[in-house]
Amino acid sequence: MAIPKLYIIIPCYNESDVLHITAPMVLDELLHLINTNRVSEESRIMYVNDGSKDDTWKIITDLAKENKYYKGICQSRNRGHQNAVLAGLMETMNCCDITISIDCDGQDDVKAMEQMVDEYLAGSEVVYGVRDNRNTDSFLKKFTAESFYKIMNSLGADIVFNHADYRLISSRVLKEFAEFKEVNLFLRGMIPLVGFKSSNVYYKRNARVAGDSHYTFSKMLGLAFDGITSLSVKPLMLISIFGVVVSLISFIGIITCIINQFVTSNVDEWVAMTCVLCFLGGIQLIAMGVIGIYIGKVYMEVKNRPRYIISDRTPEE
Ligand code: UDP
Ligand code: MG
Repeated sequence: MAIPKLYIIIPCYNESDVLHITAPMVLDELLHLINTNRVSEESRIMYVNDGSKDDTWKIITDLAKENKYYKGICQSRNRGHQNAVLAGLMETMNCCDITISIDCDGQDDVKAMEQMVDEYLAGSEVVYGVRDNRNTDSFLKKFTAESFYKIMNSLGADIVFNHADYRLISSRVLKEFAEFKEVNLFLRGMIPLVGFKSSNVYYKRNARVAGDSHYTFSKMLGLAFDGITSLSVKPLMLISIFGVVVSLISFIGIITCIINQFVTSNVDEWVAMTCVLCFLGGIQLIAMGVIGIYIGKVYMEVKNRPRYIISDRTPEE
C-alpha cells in the first residue's frame, strides 16, 4: 500500500487562547507520523474556523504563512461544531487518503493518532477514538453523557460508547458518506451507518488547555435530542406502545367495574369515569402513534439516504 496522505481536521470557534498551545502539539504528532513513514510528506493540518468572533482566523492564517503544514478554511458564519467538522471533511476528502478529526482544545490525546493510522494500515476504514474514562468531567456531564449513550443504543442507534468526534475516516468512506444529504448532523451516529471495517483506539481525555467549553448544558441537551431524533423513529412508536398499555389497564378497570356492579351493586362513579376517560385517552394515543409511524417513514424517506453501499467486488473478468 502506498503511504497514505493524511489531513487532520480541527474545528475552531473562538479559540484564540488555545490555538498557540495546541497547534505545535498537533504539528509534532504529524511530523512524527511523517518521519515514521506512516503518512506521506504531503499530509496537512486543516483548521476550520467556525465563524469565530475573536482572533482565531488571524491566528490560523498566520500559522499557514509560517509553516506549510498548516492550512485553514473559514465558514461564513458560526454553524456549530458538527457542521464545522463536516465542512473540513467534505473540503478535504478529494485531496487525501485519510482524515482525522480532533478538537482544538487539547482534550483529545494527539498521540492516539499513531495507533489510529496503524489501525488504518491494518485494514480499518474508520477508527473511533474512545475515551477510556471520564475522570476530567463534572459529575453532571459524566452522568448525562453516559446515560445518553445508553438511551441511544436502546433506541437502536449504533453509536460507539464514549466516542465523540475524534476519529479517523478514510476518504473512501467519506465519499460514500457525502451521499448522506441530511442537514441535521450527528456525525458519531451517522458514520457507523456507512459501514466498512472499523476499530476502536482508547485514549485518556484531558482537561481543556485553556478557555471554556462552548457546549453549555442546553447545547448538550440539544445535541442529544438531535441525535435521538435524527437516528431513530422509535420515540414515535413508543406513543403507540404507551397507548396500548394505558387502554389495556383501563379496559381491565372498566370490566372490574361492570363485574362489581352485578356482584355488589357498589361501584365508585369516579373510578368508573376515570377508567373510561383513560381508555379513550389510550385509544387516542394509539391512533397518534400510528400516524407517528407513517410520519417516521416519511421522515426517513425525506433524508434520501443511500439504499446500499458496496464495499468490495470480485475482479473484472
Ligand atoms: N466548536 C466549533 N463550533 C462551535 C462550538 C465549538 O467549531 O460552535 C469547536 C471548538 O472550537 C472545539 C470543538 O468544537 O474545537 C469542541 O468544542 P468544546 O471544546 O467547546 O466542547 P466540549 O469538548 O466541551 O464538549
Ligand atoms: Mg472540548
